[in-house]
Amino acid sequence: MLDELKQQVYEANMELPAKGLVTYTWGNVSGIDRERGLFVIKPSGVDYEKLTPDMLVVMDLNGEKVEGDLNPSSDTPTHIELYKAFPEVGGIVHTHSPWATSWAQAGRSIPCYGTTHADYFFGDIPCARSLTADEINGEYEKNTGIVIAETFEGKNPIYVPGVLCTNHGPFSWGADAAEAVHNAVVMEEVAKMAYRCEHLKKDIEEAPQVLQDKHFFRKHGENAYYGNDL
Ligand SMILES: [Zn+2]
Repeated sequence: MLDELKQQVYEANMELPAKGLVTYTWGNVSGIDRERGLFVIKPSGVDYEKLTPDMLVVMDLNGEKVEGDLNPSSDTPTHIELYKAFPEVGGIVHTHSPWATSWAQAGRSIPCYGTTHADYFFGDIPCARSLTADEINGEYEKNTGIVIAETFEGKNPIYVPGVLCTNHGPFSWGADAAEAVHNAVVMEEVAKMAYRCEHLKKDIEEAPQVLQDKHFFRKHGENAYYGNDL
C-alpha cells in the first residue's frame, strides 16, 4: 500500500544524512496522501544505512498504525498536529541540524538578512514559545505540534515553511517530502549565514523590506515569474 509515497519518503529521509543534517538516527521525514488521509513516516530508532522503503510506517491522522512492523518515529504526534493545522502541507521534516538548532536553543527567530533567506522564507523564521511544564509532562510531542500551529496563527505556513522549537530544534515542511527536506537544508544554510552576519556586523539590520518582497514574490504567489536559480 502507498508504495510510491513510501519510496518518496524513503528518498527524502536518506537526503538528511546525505546533506549533513542528521547525526546517528536523529531526524525524521513524513509525507501524506491527503485523499486517503494516510501518511508515511520513518520508523523509530532505525539507522539510516539499514533503512529500506518497506520499513516505513503508514499511519492515519488519529495516530493509529495502518501498516508496518516497526514503531513510527516518536515525533509522529507532532507530524499529525501539523498535518491537521496546515492542510496545504504534504511533507514534514524534523532534525536537530546544528545551525538551526543553535538558534532554537538560544530561543531566537532567524531574521531575514539576505536574499537566500527571502527566496524561501517570507520574513523571520519564527521561534515558537517554550512549552509549559504541563505541556511537557502531558502529551509532549502532540503539544509541540499544537504550539507550532499556535505560532502560525495569522501566518501563511506556505510562505514560512519552517519553525524553530525553543531549546529543541527545527521543523520544516513543503508540498511533499522532498520539498520539505529542501526547505530544511535551506533553513540550515540560512541559520549558519545569519549567525555569521551578526558576528561580522554588530548592529546588523534586516534586509530592506522592498528587497525581501522582491525576492520572495518573484518566486511565490500569483505574480511569480522566477525559477530556482536564486
Ligand atoms: Zn527533536
